[in-house]
Amino acid sequence: MSEENVYLSPNPASAARPIAIDPEKCTGCNLCVNVCPADVFVPNPEAGRVPLVLFVDECWYCGPCVDECPHAGAIRLNYPVMWRVPWKRKETGQHYWVGMKNPPPPNDTPPA
Ligand code: SF4
Ligand code: SF4
Repeated sequence: MSEENVYLSPNPASAARPIAIDPEKCTGCNLCVNVCPADVFVPNPEAGRVPLVLFVDECWYCGPCVDECPHAGAIRLNYPVMWRVPWKRKETGQHYWVGMKNPPPPNDTPPA
């Protein structure tokens, strides 16, 4: 049997692409790598470059990578389509969505 090398490609094209990093804005500080509880990323071997997203299927869509990033817009989450549920509170007209930062308090008004 011949010996074969196995390679793991970073940023693989797959049905689940939970993380998008903008190389123009990312400074490669690796904060996102360090806060990710699922170890989705690894630091880029080249210092200062965009982290490598290796384990896309492990992502929990929990969001600390986005919250902790010091550069707005450098990293964003692509929520699965079925999670992109916006809703509107009739009393105030405010819009909400799953995964938003500072979510509203629960609506504890009894149903009419
Ligand atoms: S935290 Fe933001 S700037 Fe730092 S490596 Fe991650 S995406 Fe890049
Ligand atoms: S959403 Fe959570 S699990 Fe997914 S990459 Fe960010 S920190 Fe890691």
